[in-house]
Amino acid sequence: MAFRDNTKVIHIGDRVIGGGNPILIQSMTNTRTEDVKATVEQIHRLEAAGCDIIRCTCPTEEAAKAIGEIKKQISIPLVADIHFDYKMAIAAMENGADKIRINPGNIGSKDRIAAVVSCAKERNIPIRVGVNSGSLEKDLVEKYHGVTAEGLVESALDKIGIIEDLGYDNMVVSIKSSNVMLCVKAHELLAKQCAYPLHVGITEAGTVYGGNIKSSVGLGIILNEGIGDTIRVSLSGDPVEEIKTAKMILRTLDIRKGGIEVIACPTCGRTRIDLIGLANQVETLVQNYDLDIKVAVMGCAVNGPGEAKEADIGIAGGDGEGLLIKHGEIIRKIPEDQLLAVLKEELDNYR
Ligand code: SF4
Repeated sequence: MAFRDNTKVIHIGDRVIGGGNPILIQSMTNTRTEDVKATVEQIHRLEAAGCDIIRCTCPTEEAAKAIGEIKKQISIPLVADIHFDYKMAIAAMENGADKIRINPGNIGSKDRIAAVVSCAKERNIPIRVGVNSGSLEKDLVEKYHGVTAEGLVESALDKIGIIEDLGYDNMVVSIKSSNVMLCVKAHELLAKQCAYPLHVGITEAGTVYGGNIKSSVGLGIILNEGIGDTIRVSLSGDPVEEIKTAKMILRTLDIRKGGIEVIACPTCGRTRIDLIGLANQVETLVQNYDLDIKVAVMGCAVNGPGEAKEADIGIAGGDGEGLLIKHGEIIRKIPEDQLLAVLKEELDNYR
């Protein structure tokens, strides 16, 4: 059973997933992997944002070589993403990839898959078997009268079987779809039938707006059911946004602690300060702190102090000014234009 507490423990570089280990956050670079400088720069930004594992596409020999160079300059495990060409999988592993992601369905003959597995076995490199609703085999589409959760699971179990038959079980599995509820159902079915850690994501989820909503709903349900060992939020946008969303999903579900949670009111006719602007600035500001606290940004002094009571630090807006509140206690009045600076000072000195 692939419920997170019972999955097989898998090592990816110096990270460990499965068997109840913490859920790790992944992302994927959108630079050309061959461009080592740009790729390393992006990975450093992702690392700083909280990315635990990074995946880079590896479509060419040059990209496979670049993986070796990139690895020297980053400190999180690197997964090579392979499609079609089994030689690229082998080249990526020879150049130090910590894991490879393949879809055995598009790698080709069993001999080619065997060559990839043999190379992984020699180096004890985990293989992520990825199945995607967009490339589900024709016979399964026909058998199930369309792309269905059952078809996706059968495809994944087939691929797992191929690799197990080659004597290898150092595996992670993913089944992805852009259809959120189909993806949920597929995970529920798969989790009952396989013991490998599951990498969970809603694929091609869309732009930062739509993708965040689809990912939050899909990952929220799946993770809350105890399924999923690593996650990725896929967005058509800066991958750093993927990390921010993933962290917030884990925090909202009470799965991961750490990071500042910002509570802000929706504003109403009582609001007399630029609360929306302030809340957005505060949300950006708190990304720089490694504190496990709540910060409330409330619009008025009527409900503000009460609603900010639950927070560790709060601001309640007045007319051109605001109250600084700590653990529900009003500390002092601050002019509106100094609210952000005072909050920053409080966070800098927070103990
Ligand atoms: S905290 Fe005040 S300003 Fe904000 S929504 Fe509530 S009543 Fe309105």
